[in-house]
Amino acid sequence: MNLFDLTGRIAVVTGGNGGIGLGMAEGMAAAGATVVLAGRNAAKGAAAVKKITEAGGKAEFADVDVTSETSCRALIDGVAKQHGKLNILVNNAGTNIRKTPDILKLDEWHKVMDTNLTSAFVCSHAAYPHMKKAGGGKIINIGSMMSIFAAPFSPAYAASKGGIVQFARACATAWAKDNIQVNSVLPGWIDTELTKGARREVAGLNERVLARTPAARWGDPKDFAGIAVFLSSAASDFVTGTAIPIDGGYSVLIN
Ligand code: NDP
Repeated sequence: MNLFDLTGRIAVVTGGNGGIGLGMAEGMAAAGATVVLAGRNAAKGAAAVKKITEAGGKAEFADVDVTSETSCRALIDGVAKQHGKLNILVNNAGTNIRKTPDILKLDEWHKVMDTNLTSAFVCSHAAYPHMKKAGGGKIINIGSMMSIFAAPFSPAYAASKGGIVQFARACATAWAKDNIQVNSVLPGWIDTELTKGARREVAGLNERVLARTPAARWGDPKDFAGIAVFLSSAASDFVTGTAIPIDGGYSVLIN
């Protein structure tokens, strides 16, 4: 028995059309899962599907705006109907607005919270009956170093990323009886579209990341393939409610 085999599993990855989500989807597809890459940008989605299928995996793109409850429910129920089941959900879609709390506007707060946190609630809520029916399931929430640390320019982002870890723990305890494992992954600094913006906006960030990360490099979306396979496979059937840093040692270095 291969503990990491995902043959026949159906996975939804929000924001799976790029960055960390795509890195995770590539790992799961290589392990045999059919991955549904859900996002807004269809051109990015088509390129991501091509990348996975050319590598021999099974992938498709699905349009979703995770800030809309209707759109999230249509995604999850649609995938379950089309494929007859849903086994894995990765709540990965995320955004950031970099402002100190004194100047952050309420609509900006809501945008970050809706995208990063409320979406995880709605998608998990929609996924639960399908996973229960399948006899179990796996949910992976994407947190951040800002699930455990914070910064002056990240009030809503840090709140959402702290919240998503606690939300995962609540789901883990509620749904363990249904054989559904719910865990969080906490990325360190990873080279993606999101952080390209941060590098532009925050002076000296690149140098600080390299100096502060014991591995002395930015992470790559590929670094998330292994943890995605572990947390979505039978290898992690007794692992639930955890928050696992994938950070090149960032969170264990006193600095
Ligand atoms: P990207 O910008 O590459 O990916 C973000 C993804 O989220 C995109 O694919 C985007 O899809 C999707 N998305 C954003 N808003 C919506 C929306 N309203 N509806 C549907 N999809 C949406 O960045 P990352 O890969 O870096 O980010 C992925 C996750 O990792 C996020 O949750 C982020 O907070 C987290 N993270 C990243 C870190 C890093 O260093 N990069 C560090 C810590 C956490 P589309 O383009 O179609 O809108």
